[in-house]
Amino acid sequence: MGEAEVKPKKAGPVQCSICSQRRAALKRPKTLEQICRECFYAVFEEEIHRVIVDNQLFKPGERIAIGASGGKDSTVLAYVLSELNRRHNYGLDLFLLSVDEGITGYRDDSLETVKRNEIQYGLPLKVVSYKDLYGWTMDEIVKMIGLKNNCTFCGVFRRQALDRGAAMLKVDKLATGHNADDIAETVLLNILRGDIARLSRCTSIITGEDGPIPRCKPFKYTYEKEIVMYAYFKRLDYFSTECIYSPNAYRGFAREFIKDLERIRLLPLTLFQQ
Ligand code: SF4
Repeated sequence: MGEAEVKPKKAGPVQCSICSQRRAALKRPKTLEQICRECFYAVFEEEIHRVIVDNQLFKPGERIAIGASGGKDSTVLAYVLSELNRRHNYGLDLFLLSVDEGITGYRDDSLETVKRNEIQYGLPLKVVSYKDLYGWTMDEIVKMIGLKNNCTFCGVFRRQALDRGAAMLKVDKLATGHNADDIAETVLLNILRGDIARLSRCTSIITGEDGPIPRCKPFKYTYEKEIVMYAYFKRLDYFSTECIYSPNAYRGFAREFIKDLERIRLLPLTLFQQ
């Protein structure tokens, strides 16, 4: 007899491994569990709630600005924080705070997204611009200095602009959408640069407590892939274009390296589950 004919097995619908009632719609990147959308929303939101409670990120009655760029991270943060604030009675006054760097074809478009989010989530929006604060737009700065060091200027300006905007809104804290992947990249970059001072600070969930406005990262343990999935399934309105002046090659290498490590770590798990 010749080689037995191997017929591919038809995979039946997989049930959600959490509720065992609905059909699984996705494989959760963090745990590789096959789960339905409803259970994904529930575990995603509950994990963020636990991070907020366990780390005492907010106190009742606080005014909180959400750094809003119109990108996926800050859009999901604004959506989830307003949901959790209602559901768990955090008692927070939430605001959206955006910085307009003055980058034509990038920030003007993403600010339109934030303006729609203002209406969609019912959160008041404050926009502070480089032009108003410093008299220069990033377009003008790049014209003067070119594409070398533009991000260094921009980073320093943005930091201060967020502090100034937060002071105008009289908020107690600024919440940013930095996720677990961003923090892993920053750790790696600080190791490569030998920046020990930053290395020790960059993983803190609350920073700047001795400065004018403390900052916190409710997504410190949230995977980027899950933020993208959440935004996609919930059909949130976000802007996904990169800044036209973004060289950031160094961070790009760190990002690729971490993605490779993740693939290597997940490979045995994936094989084991087959
Ligand atoms: Fe500013 Fe650079 Fe970011 Fe563009 S990529 S917004 S220039 S820091």
